[in-house]
Amino acid sequence: MALTGIQIFKLLPKTNCKECGVPTCLAFAMNLASGKAELDSCPYVSDEAREQLSEASAPPIRPVVIGKGVRTATTGGETVQYRHEKTFFNPTLLAAMVPSDIADSDLETKLKTWNAFQFERVGLNLRPELIALKDSNGDKDAFANAAKKIAESSEFNLILMTEDADVMKAGIEACGFKRPLMYGATEGNLDAFGALANENGLPLAVKADSVEGLVPLTDKLVESGLKDIVIDPGSREIKQSQDDQIAIRRAALKDGNRSVGFPTITFPCEMAPNLDMETLIASMHIAKYGGIVVLSDFSGESLFPLLLERLNIYTDPQRPMTVTEGIYEVNNPDENSPVMVTTNFALTYFIVSGEIEASRVPAYLLIKDSEGLSVMTAWAAGKFAGDDVGMFVKKCGIADKVKHQELIIPGYAAAIAGDVEEELPGWTITVGPREAAHIPGFLKAK
Ligand code: SF4
Repeated sequence: MALTGIQIFKLLPKTNCKECGVPTCLAFAMNLASGKAELDSCPYVSDEAREQLSEASAPPIRPVVIGKGVRTATTGGETVQYRHEKTFFNPTLLAAMVPSDIADSDLETKLKTWNAFQFERVGLNLRPELIALKDSNGDKDAFANAAKKIAESSEFNLILMTEDADVMKAGIEACGFKRPLMYGATEGNLDAFGALANENGLPLAVKADSVEGLVPLTDKLVESGLKDIVIDPGSREIKQSQDDQIAIRRAALKDGNRSVGFPTITFPCEMAPNLDMETLIASMHIAKYGGIVVLSDFSGESLFPLLLERLNIYTDPQRPMTVTEGIYEVNNPDENSPVMVTTNFALTYFIVSGEIEASRVPAYLLIKDSEGLSVMTAWAAGKFAGDDVGMFVKKCGIADKVKHQELIIPGYAAAIAGDVEEELPGWTITVGPREAAHIPGFLKAK
């Protein structure tokens, strides 16, 4: 059982030195008990106390690493029920299912198609992580062959899906080096699957027919020494599935129930008749609180919105995404190229630089730190004022790169033109378009 705040407090140094970022050891203890602080934030905890506190300081939902290589990912590790409380840390992993009796050529085609689903957005590469290989006929050789092919010829990591210990063993022998998630420990095969997971150091998913039904199974696995567990409450009806996800998150976070303090796996592919409906269910589980979502297929029109939703849900709402202040060169500019300036809100940067790139006009884009605010908001908040922008242009070094003195400011910041001019004597300040979409036409007309 997790310790209470008072129990934790008794194990802390009680010096109230504040180095952990809160005023008292008691406040730190309370934060630790509710999963809002990490034990490492206090440098003065004795080894003995650390040992006793390790359970209390562990995230209420255990983080589980799945896979190896560039698509290695962690699921779980969440500490809050609601995203506005802090942030969600480890994005829902997306998987597509293939049956083990798939023909080699079909598998190759799928791998090639699925591997191409990678989307650039705000400087990030968005892509799915997993393939769920499902044992379709108990043929362990076919299962192992398909597992080997996926592991060796693609970047995807695997979920090995079977309830047959021999088939699972063959799959692990074929692709164990990629740290697959074993799926399918049930009441009937728990001992065999637990032993296989422990022997091979692999994460194991356990399935029951209800949230309550998971408790004795996970307790037994934990007793056997297994820590990396993923849970499936077995619900395949939409409302029940969502209720279960919420109940699990609540029990782990609010009640400190360690028996369900693990990431979940959900199966929209077993809950809907077509990929469109699966996509809707998957979007529900990305919002609340699926650790892994398994679809029957990947297609661009399903995957792209899910990846974008995931990006938004798992972005810290209290910290805007930013890019570094500085000079950005687009389309190989030279000393005659136009100079534009905007804010460091990531979306602003990527949209503006994308439009400049699309115009094929070489240009310098100056990015001024505005604490991650967009142009209008930054201007209104005084983070993109004329004198600041002028000073930034002076110190950023753009004057050494161009032989003209013209600066293009965003249309939405037209009001700062006079102040910028005052700060930059000799420079011509031109007001650019309000909308990024008009940048190509604007640049071409110059
Ligand atoms: Fe107490 Fe440790 Fe925080 Fe200092 S750093 S106030 S000793 S909990």
